[in-house]
Amino acid sequence: MRRVVRVAAYVPAGASNWAAVAASDEDSFTLAATAVERVWSGRRAEPGPILVHALGDFPEVVEWGFAALLGRETVVTRSPGTASQLAKALEELEGGEGGPAIVVAVDLAETSASRTSSKSGIAGDAAVAFLLEPTESAAPLLFGKHAAGRSAVAATVRRARSEAAGGSRIMFVGDWDRGAGVGSAREAKPAGRDRSDNLGTVSEGAYIPRARYLENLPSRWRFLAEVCEACHRTTFPSRRVCRNCGRADSLTPVELPYNGGRVVAVTTVSAGGQPTEFDAQVAGSGPYDVALVELARGMRVTLQVTDIAPGTLAVGDHVDTLLRRLYPMEGEWRYGRKAVPVSTAGSRGPAKTPA
Ligand SMILES: [Zn+2]
Repeated sequence: MRRVVRVAAYVPAGASNWAAVAASDEDSFTLAATAVERVWSGRRAEPGPILVHALGDFPEVVEWGFAALLGRETVVTRSPGTASQLAKALEELEGGEGGPAIVVAVDLAETSASRTSSKSGIAGDAAVAFLLEPTESAAPLLFGKHAAGRSAVAATVRRARSEAAGGSRIMFVGDWDRGAGVGSAREAKPAGRDRSDNLGTVSEGAYIPRARYLENLPSRWRFLAEVCEACHRTTFPSRRVCRNCGRADSLTPVELPYNGGRVVAVTTVSAGGQPTEFDAQVAGSGPYDVALVELARGMRVTLQVTDIAPGTLAVGDHVDTLLRRLYPMEGEWRYGRKAVPVSTAGSRGPAKTPA
């Protein structure tokens, strides 16, 4: 059997009318991806496939996106984002045999039939993820009658509070403390969103073949680098050959840290200066910043900056990175990591219990 050992929350930074509002470069997949990344943090070494049950309304990328995000084989199942579906999914996975499993649920205003109410503690757009691990001990996380008539996210927040009050063995990570006060926290982001979901009408820029996009995902989504055992140098992005000594037979894959990178250079891209694949973004949201970020000593990556006004980020600032929408191409959204202001919740911090 399995038991829930960790629950992560992700609440977007933007707010409107006391509710969290996802940014224009977020969708149900990126919300889910951030919650999954937080709940899975530090558990990358274990072999074998991961079962992922996704509750909500998702684009097709959800079928393969978690595998690319975790660098692991995943078996994905999906269901509507209701509390009763969540209770059912947890019950099935807790009773099942095998390796670790993740249950992730998303509330997003555009897609969710049952919105999270402000009474639940997390108001508006949000994602929660449960990590279940094999064990022979401990009691299951039961939702019981609390599950009725709510969204999966709202039910999770209520359940998490009662767990915390009862001295839970479960670790809670992420944005639980942003809960009820989310509306007063930051009113910076404009509420009007251009989701550009009508992909057919969005002009597409410089053609980037899907095969190349997929090939680069390990470096782009997981910051995959390679350490050469012969000369001890690190090559990033990974090239399957050491950039220092040229050997290809002694490379060990490593992931550079997603969070806490330092801004080495930053510039604002004004209208007209963007690569053409970002034309629609600039037309909808205006100028954006691009930062050169040092992830580890000597390991740098160029990232678009989001969740902060252009011109705000400075050299020397530290940033986290999150998966976001980049641009539409060939009838789908392409995704990649962007730099965001360092989170007080994040995936690195110690366990927090809901207030
Ligand atoms: Zn080498």
